[in-house]
Amino acid sequence: MTKTLTDGQSCDVLVVGSGAGGLATAVTAAKHGLDVVVIEKEPVFGGTTAFSGGVLWVPGNRHCGANDNRDEARRYMMEETGNFYDAAAVEAYLETGPEMLDWFERETSVAFVPTLYPDYHPDVPGGVDVGRSVLAAPFDTSALGKDMKRLRPPLSTITFMGMMFNSSNADIKHFFNATKSLKSFLYVSKRLALHFSEVLRYGRGANVTSGNALAARLAKSCFDLNIPIHTDCPATKLISGPDGVTGAEIRTPDGVVTVTARKGVVLAAGGFAQDTDRIRKAYPHLKRGGEHFTPVPEGNTGDGIDLGEAAGGKFDVQFPNTSAWMPVSKVPTGNGSFTAFPHLLDRYKPGIVAVLKSGARFTNESESYHDVGAALMAACEGETETACWLIADQTAMRKYGLGFAKPAPVPTALYTRSGYLKKGRTLAELAEACGIDPKGLERHIAAYNEGARQGEDPAFRRGSTAFNRYLADPEVTPNPCVAPLETGPFYAVKIVMGDLGTFDGFETTVEGQVLDREGSAIPGLFAVGNDRASIMGGNYPGAGITLGPAMTFGYITGRHLAGAA
Ligand SMILES: Cc1cc2nc3c(=O)[nH]c(=O)nc-3n(C[C@H](O)[C@H](O)[C@H](O)COP(=O)(O)OP(=O)(O)OC[C@H]3O[C@@H](n4cnc5c(N)ncnc54)[C@H](O)[C@@H]3O)c2cc1C
Repeated sequence: MTKTLTDGQSCDVLVVGSGAGGLATAVTAAKHGLDVVVIEKEPVFGGTTAFSGGVLWVPGNRHCGANDNRDEARRYMMEETGNFYDAAAVEAYLETGPEMLDWFERETSVAFVPTLYPDYHPDVPGGVDVGRSVLAAPFDTSALGKDMKRLRPPLSTITFMGMMFNSSNADIKHFFNATKSLKSFLYVSKRLALHFSEVLRYGRGANVTSGNALAARLAKSCFDLNIPIHTDCPATKLISGPDGVTGAEIRTPDGVVTVTARKGVVLAAGGFAQDTDRIRKAYPHLKRGGEHFTPVPEGNTGDGIDLGEAAGGKFDVQFPNTSAWMPVSKVPTGNGSFTAFPHLLDRYKPGIVAVLKSGARFTNESESYHDVGAALMAACEGETETACWLIADQTAMRKYGLGFAKPAPVPTALYTRSGYLKKGRTLAELAEACGIDPKGLERHIAAYNEGARQGEDPAFRRGSTAFNRYLADPEVTPNPCVAPLETGPFYAVKIVMGDLGTFDGFETTVEGQVLDREGSAIPGLFAVGNDRASIMGGNYPGAGITLGPAMTFGYITGRHLAGAA
């Protein structure tokens, strides 16, 4: 049971935020002998990490990196990060990432499984077709006891009736095939029966996967080390003196308290994706009057950046892409509000394309969310609205679904009635329903179909990389990403810009000490996770490029604080 915070309490390390960055730092520091306290603003712990896919990009990891080569990984990082290549940080990352994974798996409740993810740009020098990303192993959260209720639930739009998919393709395949194969039907029935029995017993699904499993495993590791995670306790002010930062003021349910940290305060508040002022100034599509809708939790309002700046930390928006872009659709929740659906799977499937309001395609839909998001922003330059529509024909809709709209046998009427899904007997009728130019849509889809019948996409070379094909449909040949849109009715979902978290953050030393405007390290002040500037320089080289560095640099910072580095 976590005790309440008391005024005047002291510890070695105070960690502000309970996502992967904060908890990895906390666990490492405590395991090396320090007295650590974690505070969390929200009533639940886990942050964006608990919403995430739980994938970490760690070149050279023992799970799947036996053949990975440090020089190749370095080359890839150089190619991907360009002018923002930070040799010292990259070297520390490549050197320590595999060690960090091994350490967590050996010493804590954190565990991973391999994935088959290719790098997002496998054809760039140093890129690989498989092997650098690992995934948090599923976890039975009943092991958290009473604290299970304080674990942030998964993002509702990517669950099925609250049940999390096992991130393996096999799991998802069984769900797609449940009405076609007895084996899949039995598999799905068993999974759902277990899920509903857990809901009856615990009030939520207990067996979790992906980022929810990662957050739960990190929290379990904290509790095993007697590290308290104080929820409903936002840091509101840092306490600084001649020796640097020495603690923080915290608003608890029982009043404001001051906690002193002998070794340091670690800002791990998850970046500023929900800081409306900062993003309005930084995001190009917001500057031109458009909309942004993020699945990042509401508590990530940039508190870490505000606190650090007030203590003299240097924060600038410097990367060409301030955030990890994610095309999202807005799922109506019935009371006039919406939840974000991140388009992680459908864009890769054959028979689904993205078009602008002119009816024209604008990119290779099977590239990463970040690349498609950046392409959408560029394609809408000069427009007030930054948006596109994902279009599917009946064959693709029934086989794969579209966004939040599930495939057959779930009736499409469920989604057309709420206005989420638009439908037209013909492409022109669909265009009218969406506000797309009907003639333009007919013309552009006809041009696309011509190549698609042969499995070709001369305009954007969809299906040309191992990454394009990874989440496509291997049953469709010769190109698993490409099929014509020919069979009506046709369907569409509107896509707007969203993000998975911010990339810009504090400049720090390799060990995570926050730098001031003169480039000096501020004693006692550290930043990890999205409060620290991404070593990817605003680029997205592969699956897990935020959680991989969040945990690796959390481990480095934790060891540094304990004098173990
Ligand atoms: C749907 C989705 C899928 C994703 N999948 C992946 C993936 O598979 N791999 C990957 O690498 N990245 C993924 N991401 C991005 C990744 O989840 C985030 O970049 C990462 O979790 C950030 O970790 P963090 O520790 O910096 O912050 P968070 O996990 O967001 O934690 C920060 C915590 O700090 C708390 N906080 C804020 N202010 C205060 C305060 N004043 N006092 C105390 N606490 C405070 C917040 O409430 C929050 O709980 C995904 C994101 C989303 C939305």
